[in-house]
Amino acid sequence: MIETSDEQKILLTNLRRVVKDKIEPIAGETDIKGTFNWDVVSLFWDLGLLQIMLPEAYGGWPHNPCHTLCLSIEEISKACASSALLLVIQAVGSFPLISAANQQQKEKYFPRISRGRELMAYLVSEPGAGSDVQAILCTARRSNGSYVLNGRKVFATNGSVAGLYSVLAKTGEKELSFFVVERNQDGITIGKVEDKCGFRGSNTSEVILEDVVVSQENLLGKQGDGFTIAMADFDMSRPAVAALALGIAEGATQYALVGHSRRSNTIRT
Ligand SMILES: Cc1cc2nc3c(=O)[nH]c(=O)nc-3n(C[C@H](O)[C@H](O)[C@H](O)COP(=O)(O)OP(=O)(O)OC[C@H]3O[C@@H](n4cnc5c(N)ncnc54)[C@H](O)[C@@H]3O)c2cc1C
Repeated sequence: MIETSDEQKILLTNLRRVVKDKIEPIAGETDIKGTFNWDVVSLFWDLGLLQIMLPEAYGGWPHNPCHTLCLSIEEISKACASSALLLVIQAVGSFPLISAANQQQKEKYFPRISRGRELMAYLVSEPGAGSDVQAILCTARRSNGSYVLNGRKVFATNGSVAGLYSVLAKTGEKELSFFVVERNQDGITIGKVEDKCGFRGSNTSEVILEDVVVSQENLLGKQGDGFTIAMADFDMSRPAVAALALGIAEGATQYALVGHSRRSNTIRT
């Protein structure tokens, strides 16, 4: 078991207060309306929560960032799963950059995320490809030193609110590669925004890529590294998703035991 550091304890104390004052009171309404709440996003940027996984120079958490991410997600999801999912997908969407970007890409994109407060989205799933990542059909065809992306991505969390996408595409018959792509680029349209049963305050949409031209400088890692990066990203994010489920279960248990108005901020003392 990993010990919670003094810095993490301070973060969690502050977070419990913020969750109680700012997140919990609006969680029910967020769920009913199914609207994306930019105020919560701003609040999380202010608290440094959407930067946790970035390198320290860009506002990231210096020690055990994955552990800090999980603790924060658990705490938030006790009150609002949609808000906690913001942290999960910011980490998942940034991971291809964090793990595979070259120095030039880091200097270009990390300030945009950290200081520019741009949300990330992770465009992997497609109508015929979920668990089986290799089954994607989205292609990235080389043309005059650039790549031309075509495909249809589904279930993209932050799909219509993120500034930057990490996109997985086929660069060969059995070869996958990741690209960093700007949402406002020509050829990108937002399809259906999902009206979900849960996580209703989280934005989940289709993203359609039609002849989206990106430079070779948008390729993350080497051509063909995509599958390895995607699997490493899942390894990073599985504990975060588990923390999300744990927090939801803890919140639900507390709600069942003492009801909404008297819900304490943690049942794990
Ligand atoms: C709220 C929400 C947000 C999401 N956000 C994103 C996102 O930001 N980016 C993104 O790319 N995707 C996202 N997804 C998609 C998600 O990653 C996929 O739903 C997930 O990968 C499962 O894929 P699938 O739905 O196609 O199910 P399938 O892959 O078809 O799986 C269906 C069932 O079959 C089981 N199964 C699959 N393969 C096997 C096997 N070989 N052996 C035994 N059992 C198997 C699975 O465990 C599951 O129970 C999101 C989904 C939801 C619901």
